[in-house]
Amino acid sequence: MKMTQEQFDIIKEQIEKLTQRDCFYKKKFEGIDVSGIKCQEDFEKLPFTWKGDLREAYPLGLMAADEEKIVRIHSSSGTTGTPVIIPYTQKDVDDWAEMFARCYKMAGITSSDRIQITPGYGLWTAGIGFQLGAERLGAMAVPMGPGNTDKQLRMMQDMKSTVLCATSSYALLLAEEIERRGIGDKICLKKGVIGSERWGEKMRRRIANELGVELYDIYGLTEVYGPGIGVSCGENCGMHMWDDFVYCEVVNPKTGELVPDGEIGELVITTLKKEGAPLIRYRTHDLTRILPGECTCGSKYPRIDVILGRTDDMVKVKGVNIFPSQIEDFLSGVDGASSEYQVMIDHLNGRDIFTLFVEVDREVDKREFEKRVLSGFKNRIGISIKCKPVDIGDLPRSEKKTARIYDNRY
Ligand code: ZN
Repeated sequence: MKMTQEQFDIIKEQIEKLTQRDCFYKKKFEGIDVSGIKCQEDFEKLPFTWKGDLREAYPLGLMAADEEKIVRIHSSSGTTGTPVIIPYTQKDVDDWAEMFARCYKMAGITSSDRIQITPGYGLWTAGIGFQLGAERLGAMAVPMGPGNTDKQLRMMQDMKSTVLCATSSYALLLAEEIERRGIGDKICLKKGVIGSERWGEKMRRRIANELGVELYDIYGLTEVYGPGIGVSCGENCGMHMWDDFVYCEVVNPKTGELVPDGEIGELVITTLKKEGAPLIRYRTHDLTRILPGECTCGSKYPRIDVILGRTDDMVKVKGVNIFPSQIEDFLSGVDGASSEYQVMIDHLNGRDIFTLFVEVDREVDKREFEKRVLSGFKNRIGISIKCKPVDIGDLPRSEKKTARIYDNRY
């Protein structure tokens, strides 16, 4: 993506400021002549910032503003090891609210809406971001946080919530529960704003149909404000990114080289206005691509594709690289398969064993289904697997992001 002159000037000024004060980037860019950065190509030679760098800065090593300006911290939910702490100034919080309100507006949500927020509140950025944006927009927030499905559904009916904010797996759980209880006609939802985990077309259709809503993908990560730095529009073709706050690049995850617009790679983000913890060329590990050209919705904000997976979700089995999105694409073409699946990879007697658990419709003949999956998978993806069809509802649903692939080999 071509960097605008304005973006370049902001980034250049930011880098100069950051390398003059005692902070993370002074150390990170030691030995680099930052005054020699004259154009986009020079910027693209700067080293990447990795999640590991952020962990090493624990607890407050990323802080790039005076402490009296810091109003809060958030922390990314590291599943292993040291967490990452991100300090925010009041301006960072205000900017985040502004971006989030824009996301709601892009989705056609107004101050007359009632927004039920089910992501968690606390150290991570999810719930509180949805809340900030709702308040900035002037809508009525219903701040539920996660869990307690009975209470969620009661409030959804009594408060007549019109917007549901959730992860895709929790939205699916609620949709299934509404159907099971036969209370669909008491639900007033019109739109769903779904956090940007990878979710397939089948799951999207099920949630949309069962809840009777239009769905929007919202993007973000704790290291870069939180959710709300980009969102899909009514055209449903990728997500618009707020390029006055973040600059996006897409690189080959193996080599770190930029890939041409339209090609899949890892999203790399540079913040343009962040004060508490600015980031330069941060490797998100999210797989996507820059969508060239302007969107038919008329918005000038550039677009990336919906998240296609995580670079660290990629598994190598029998010499073949496999992404969750490939499995989802494959299953979407298999009659009787639902959107829900799970993969177990084991190593037994010197061989990798890839077992695909899939929820199937009740009327499906499981033995015949298994045969179709085995030959189809071998043809499409190129390896022999085991398949275990299970009933709808047998695989775990979660309020957080659902893990699809369990690699038990190491
Ligand atoms: Zn658009």
